[in-house]
Amino acid sequence: MPVLHNRISNEELKQRMYAETEPRKTVSFYKYFHINEPQAFRDALWVAFDKLKVFGRIYVANEGINGQISVPESNFEAFRDALYAAAPELNGIRLNIAVDDDGKSFWVLKIKVRPKIVADGIDDPNFDPSKTGVYLKAKDYNELAENPDTIVVDMRNHYEYEVGHFENAIEIPSDTFRDQLPMAVDMLKDQKDKNIIMYCTGGIRCEKASAYMLHNGFKNVFHVEGGIIEYARKAKEQNLPLKFIGKNFVFDDRLGERITEDIIAQCHICGKPCDTHTNCKNDGCHLLFIQCGECAEKLEGCCSADCQTEMHLPVEEQRAKRAGRENGPMIFNKSKDHPLRKHRNDWKIKPD
Ligand SMILES: [Zn+2]
Ligand SMILES: [Zn+2]
Repeated sequence: MPVLHNRISNEELKQRMYAETEPRKTVSFYKYFHINEPQAFRDALWVAFDKLKVFGRIYVANEGINGQISVPESNFEAFRDALYAAAPELNGIRLNIAVDDDGKSFWVLKIKVRPKIVADGIDDPNFDPSKTGVYLKAKDYNELAENPDTIVVDMRNHYEYEVGHFENAIEIPSDTFRDQLPMAVDMLKDQKDKNIIMYCTGGIRCEKASAYMLHNGFKNVFHVEGGIIEYARKAKEQNLPLKFIGKNFVFDDRLGERITEDIIAQCHICGKPCDTHTNCKNDGCHLLFIQCGECAEKLEGCCSADCQTEMHLPVEEQRAKRAGRENGPMIFNKSKDHPLRKHRNDWKIKPD
């Protein structure tokens, strides 16, 4: 039995990657299509990509494939050919190539078999996520969005919508994609003949959502090809009017990419126009929230006076306070009782 995974230590792999002299391209891709034997598919892919020094994370499921990888530039074409050849459905799929990326995000190839590529909570065996809505390119989006019989639906989280979204887009107010799907169906149940356009950051969620709407009897379902990222890129390239306003939230160091100059959100502390996300500087909190420069200075980057106080305690005391507190992604969200909101009753500074 050949070894189909790495056996070298993480540290050494990382060092090897940094010792490489050849630049890497960072590429992301996904495709919903039926994979009969995900494990066998995964193993064959691992053998092919390992030879080409592909690093990164790829998920394989019965419903398809989703990957974020890096590949040495000279192997890019061989990688693309290998991916296209892995299944007929993959031939010609869109590859998103990151522009300002140093290619150093990955140092090992991990391909994992998962129940789903995007967790959706659906166990209806008749639901086929590969039967998706119609792709909209930037130009087509702009046209269809103008139609009075069109409803634009944002399939992201509240904190993403808050700093930027398509004009007139509605929000599905839930914290998780799995709750959003039935909620979207319910919210729009009397509008089955309208044009429904769904979108998300990179396209993978809204594509599945479009399939779910069709599955639930909606007739005219569309989704933005490549999500906001591709829309903004194409709209700028083709000098089209930008229908997306504000910032596109992304989980990298910038916590968002400005699309237009509009600032549509407010500082969570003082309410002033602001769309800068930050993580609370208190190690026992790390809440993701919006904070203006003034409030950041006043609270030293913390979300509350309590966090500011806690941050300055001796490390041992900080640890003691943290013990027993719930962990997890600490994201400011209006629709949910945040475990750390308890100590934030005085969360908004009331105007005098
Ligand atoms: Zn403020
Ligand atoms: Zn905090």
